[in-house]
Amino acid sequence: MTNRRVLISGAGVAGPALAFWLHRHGCTPTVVERAPELRDGGYAVDFRGASLRVLDRMGLLEQVEAAATRMGEVTYVDSEDRPLVVTPPTFQSGELEIMRGDLSRILHEATMDDVEYVFGDAITGVLDRDDGVTVTFEHGAPREFDLVIGADGLHSTVRSLVFGDESWYRRDLGYHVSIFTVPNHLGLDHAGRFYNEPNRTVGVYSARDNAEAKALFWFGSPPIDYDPRDVEQQRRIVEETFEGVGWETSTLLEAMREAPDFYFDSASQIVLDSYSRGRVALVGDAAYCAAPLSGMGTSLAIVGAYVLAGELAAAGGDHRRAFGAYETEMRGFAEVCQKLAQGNGKWFVPPTRGWIRMRNLNYKLLPYLPWRKVIEELPLKAGNAITLKEYATARA
Ligand SMILES: Cc1cc2nc3c(=O)[nH]c(=O)nc-3n(C[C@H](O)[C@H](O)[C@H](O)COP(=O)(O)OP(=O)(O)OC[C@H]3O[C@@H](n4cnc5c(N)ncnc54)[C@H](O)[C@@H]3O)c2cc1C
Repeated sequence: MTNRRVLISGAGVAGPALAFWLHRHGCTPTVVERAPELRDGGYAVDFRGASLRVLDRMGLLEQVEAAATRMGEVTYVDSEDRPLVVTPPTFQSGELEIMRGDLSRILHEATMDDVEYVFGDAITGVLDRDDGVTVTFEHGAPREFDLVIGADGLHSTVRSLVFGDESWYRRDLGYHVSIFTVPNHLGLDHAGRFYNEPNRTVGVYSARDNAEAKALFWFGSPPIDYDPRDVEQQRRIVEETFEGVGWETSTLLEAMREAPDFYFDSASQIVLDSYSRGRVALVGDAAYCAAPLSGMGTSLAIVGAYVLAGELAAAGGDHRRAFGAYETEMRGFAEVCQKLAQGNGKWFVPPTRGWIRMRNLNYKLLPYLPWRKVIEELPLKAGNAITLKEYATARA
């Protein structure tokens, strides 16, 4: 196989998963991650359909199952914490649900002995020549690679450097989300409680066997101009947006100040006309972010990594053939997953009091609605909207 030296930007989910498979196919991947260490945080992420089969092929399914959230019911409450409607466990979670940070850790641990990880650095330049790529870094010396893969998320630097400005490819769905770890002060037992005011959703659910909880803030808004690296500014945006909102909001906002893993982002999708340019390709959110409202981001990242590495191996390292085949396999799947998120927002962040009442009534009636099964099976259908090929590996 040619083109074995592969640089991957980003050690979230897609990056380590890709490194795993590239190593299995006989490559020598290097992963560069901007954060000084693996990033914990984020909420529970779901696996559905094909991604479960990939985890199984990685030999990691048992480990992921052992760290599963085992989340129970979510109760929607009024400002006095009185239950309005209860949704069953199957409603929010996929076939298997795990905290994003736990997944990232499992993937990192499965690859750290075979893959070079460089933390605390980032790519600043990519010079794609006919016979290789010269890469420059914020801190390290320039290095030569055969291929460069951007697995650096929604705001991918590789994509900006090689494909052009983010604004050309980003479709905002009109919402922002913040998630962070807080003490489980409500004593929730594998359960969540959510509260709504128009255009605002506040939630908290227990995590890591109730040892802690995740607070979640969603709001509807047009695009906000903020610095993605300025966490203080992002905290202020959340505080100002939720000022005066009832229920447990002020306690959770106070806890936000101490949160070790504050996360804030827009609910956005990435739509590209091609997932590669020359010797550079994208995977995961960088290529086809589906937005948190889809519940499919992690499945897409895991499956995308499997397919990209597999196609490279199947093409004997011929990146032109491999990148083309990767796109052919993934594009339809990515589109189905992205579609799931569109129009979903109003159910999760109802814009008016009328919408909140209507949503709660629908959830109450859901067990009796004839189309209940259709609604429940939509995400599963999306998760299976790709037929996985078998790719022979060079290493066990
Ligand atoms: C801390 C965190 C919390 C998240 N929380 C949620 C959540 O609650 N809900 C949800 O739906 N999605 C969340 N996401 C996104 C979710 O992880 C992805 O949608 C999905 O898992 C696909 O993973 P990915 O590897 O493509 O992207 P990501 O998981 O976003 O990983 C991208 C990685 O690239 C790194 N990176 C970024 N820029 C550079 C650079 N220039 N150079 C090197 N490395 C770089 C990031 O630090 C990150 O580790 C979160 C992402 C992160 C990083």
